[in-house]
Amino acid sequence: MPVYKAPLRDMKFLLNEVFDYPGHYATLTSGENATPDIVDAILGECGKFCEEVLSPLYLSGDEEGCKLDNGEVTTPAGYRDAYQQYAMGGWQGLSAPEEYGGQGLPASMGLLKQEMMGTANWPFSMYPGLSLGAMNTIFLHGTEDQKQTYLAPLTEGRWAGTMCLTEPQCGTDLGQVKTKAEPQADGSYRLTGTKIFISSGDHDLTENIVHIVLARLPDAPKGTRGISLFIVPKFLPDSNGDVGERNGVVCGSLEKKMGIKASATCVLNFDGATGFLIGPENEGLNCMFTFMNTARIGTAIQGVGPAELSYQWALAYAKDRRSMRALSGKKEPDQVADSLIHHADVRRMLLTQKAIAEGGRAMLYYSARLADHMVEGFTEGDDKKAEKYDDKLGFLTPILKGFLTELGCEAANLGVQVFGGHGYIREHGMEQIVRDTRIATLYEGTTGIQALDLLGRKVLLTTQGGAVREFTLNIANFARKHLTDKRLRPWALELLKLTGQWNLLTVRIMLAARKDRDVVSSASYDFLMYSGYVTMAYIWLRQAAVAVDKLANGGEESTGFYQAKLATTEFYFERLLPRAQSHATSMLSPSKNLMQLDAEDLAFTG
Ligand SMILES: Cc1cc2nc3c(=O)[nH]c(=O)nc-3n(C[C@H](O)[C@H](O)[C@H](O)COP(=O)(O)OP(=O)(O)OC[C@H]3O[C@@H](n4cnc5c(N)ncnc54)[C@H](O)[C@@H]3O)c2cc1C
Repeated sequence: MPVYKAPLRDMKFLLNEVFDYPGHYATLTSGENATPDIVDAILGECGKFCEEVLSPLYLSGDEEGCKLDNGEVTTPAGYRDAYQQYAMGGWQGLSAPEEYGGQGLPASMGLLKQEMMGTANWPFSMYPGLSLGAMNTIFLHGTEDQKQTYLAPLTEGRWAGTMCLTEPQCGTDLGQVKTKAEPQADGSYRLTGTKIFISSGDHDLTENIVHIVLARLPDAPKGTRGISLFIVPKFLPDSNGDVGERNGVVCGSLEKKMGIKASATCVLNFDGATGFLIGPENEGLNCMFTFMNTARIGTAIQGVGPAELSYQWALAYAKDRRSMRALSGKKEPDQVADSLIHHADVRRMLLTQKAIAEGGRAMLYYSARLADHMVEGFTEGDDKKAEKYDDKLGFLTPILKGFLTELGCEAANLGVQVFGGHGYIREHGMEQIVRDTRIATLYEGTTGIQALDLLGRKVLLTTQGGAVREFTLNIANFARKHLTDKRLRPWALELLKLTGQWNLLTVRIMLAARKDRDVVSSASYDFLMYSGYVTMAYIWLRQAAVAVDKLANGGEESTGFYQAKLATTEFYFERLLPRAQSHATSMLSPSKNLMQLDAEDLAFTG
């Protein structure tokens, strides 16, 4: 059975040599305890837990799935035990505030943990992931009383959390939420309605589940400005804060779905359930979205994770499986045939996976530094700092979430292809990675919605292109510094050209959109993908620059490691980055080619 190996060498290269996390942590209050030896120890322990406990449950969890009996959900065999180990290890509170029982480490440490857990076993990692969303919301918007009641058990992992937004009639357009919340004399609310697709909506891993629910007060304005946020626990806490009376929220059914079968996706019925308002009335969506940027970086991990996992397994297979002879002559003459790894087309697939996994990881770590500053701004009440970093991160998050999850699907599909017909057979796990990964481009905002957010909101509406100008300035400055190095020069020149083009494309779309509003939507997907390819090129150049320096002056890694970084940069610039030009052409084409057909004329089935 294939197993996951934590890519600790690549992680440490990025943390220590490319993005100077030791220096970064030294500037953070929360970084006081994140000294290099502690970070090393945490990564090592987390990697071991993921390899030895979570990875072995990945295939069996899919085979068995979750079960619903009498309104109670049971997770697959081994999940409860693994979760107990996770909770006992204090992993849930890694980046949570110390005053509520957490370890108070920087937010980025939590992302490193999430990356390894999510790669080893994404469906499992969803349970603690959703809890984290609930913890962040209560931490930022809850009253002190609510924090005292809910944060400690959530941080300890004794209780879990959910985020209940989606209803049958709406997922993207949350302005259509119908769930009702009626005020009661004691200050609580009675919630009635149905939520669908709720991840971790019910399970047997914890003694209680804290649902964070969007609902509408009786006199609320229509649309998104009339939605409030509520805490609805599965069991109401008693006066000691322990699990008390059963609340009126029940799992009506489990969704039967394509992948992530070990993650319970529930229809939740709220039948006069007791809830408690969190944050101001009618500002529920704002409260829900406060930490959305960090949550979306979390989902972007689901692009990198499957690329890494599928690559690890495909690489091992390609070294082992034999087929025909290499075109350039026998490579393993003693064997009946050469292994797959010697065929250029198999290399194309493997290197695409590698470039996506390592390039995507580097994009995440680059952004996680910004997340640390943003979170520190929030927790220290420094609104200016929080806003500054939220803006920077706000520009990057749709790129990370949209682009990396799309590429994650591509990488997972390539993994199946490397295995040939055996990739389509369940026992190897390759088809499961494809099924599990597919959800990543859908939830937490579909790729289409990320694209609209990037182009429509972050680039055109709020900054009139300023966000692109600011980001490309950083890239151009970096590229210019490396023009003199023989190895880096062609890539730096290409990147300089692209920064100019990115700005030009933005201006052209802005002008076109003044005459035709559909342009924002029709150009958005290509704009998002273009932005992703250029951002990843910048991140590969940063890795290459370090590799050149370390090859000359020595570093923490072997010569082979740094040479591989240069070879992968070359592959990325020469084989993947050219795709940006196809997106550039497409995004400038008029919206007419999409909109000219009447809806009735799109098919002629009658
Ligand atoms: C396995 C799973 C787990 C989930 N977990 C949760 C959870 O824990 N909590 C929760 O609340 N929800 C959850 N969801 C719901 C998920 O977030 C939604 O399915 C998602 O937001 C999309 O909403 P929708 O399905 O209603 O699609 P729709 O909103 O109907 O969108 C359909 C298509 O139209 C496009 N589209 C929609 N509007 C526009 C527009 N204005 N412009 C251009 N294109 C547009 C979309 O991009 C998409 O391609 C989960 C879903 C699944 C399948």
